Amino acid sequence: MRRKLVVGNWKLNGSLSENKVLIASLLKNLNTIQTTDFAICVPYTYLFQAQALLTGTNIFWGAQNVSQFRDGAHTSSISAHMIADFDCSFAIIGHSERRALSNESNQKAAKRFARVVNAGITPIYCVGETAEERAEGLAENVVKNQILAITYGLDESTFEYAKQVDMVIAYEPVWAIGNGRTASPQQAQDMHAFIRDLIAKIDADFSKRVRIIYGGSVTPDNALALLSMPDIDGGLIGRCSLIAEEFSQICHLAS
Ligand code: PEP
Repeated sequence: MRRKLVVGNWKLNGSLSENKVLIASLLKNLNTIQTTDFAICVPYTYLFQAQALLTGTNIFWGAQNVSQFRDGAHTSSISAHMIADFDCSFAIIGHSERRALSNESNQKAAKRFARVVNAGITPIYCVGETAEERAEGLAENVVKNQILAITYGLDESTFEYAKQVDMVIAYEPVWAIGNGRTASPQQAQDMHAFIRDLIAKIDADFSKRVRIIYGGSVTPDNALALLSMPDIDGGLIGRCSLIAEEFSQICHLAS
């Protein structure tokens, strides 16, 4: 049985004082739940604060991306080893906002993915199609290519590391992110099952334990229906992760 995982993606939000209040509420609301994993992925500047406030609690923390490079002349970049210094458990890789805003290709996302697993951190690898791609019947093909980049696209030892750190896949249809238009539970389930089948072709055992979480306008109102589907193992939550009551409600529903 796969443990559910609920991850908050704070994106470009927060301040030291706001974070302190939000994290205190989450700790109060979630401290009794032992059956589900929770995490918040915060801006780099708040990793130190997350580490200070969450060490020894039942909430994990992580970053929202890492550089594809290990080190060197890459002004403003942050490496996987740097975020490991802050005891990050997770790093989001290949978020559609990165893919769209920074032209992050599957190949670049795969390099970042490899950096993360080599640093002993669990990647949350985002895949998903745009509205146009779905309308043209290309959704599965797009997602397949995104998955192939981190499986056949990487050498065998990197995929072994990815299994060791329990890599997570987040299916996030781009048309459902940040706009209140969520995928139906059946639409999401169909794509999650498709992704699990793809992984099974590479490693049947791992496909049974890999967590595939759903993201795209998850709210307390739609979370239960989505999280009850057999191949949906949790959620990647944007907007609602900034509101303690809403994120906590989603976490309680997941558990
Ligand atoms: C996201 O950006 O990963 C996300 C799922 O955002 P939202 O929940 O706001 O749609």
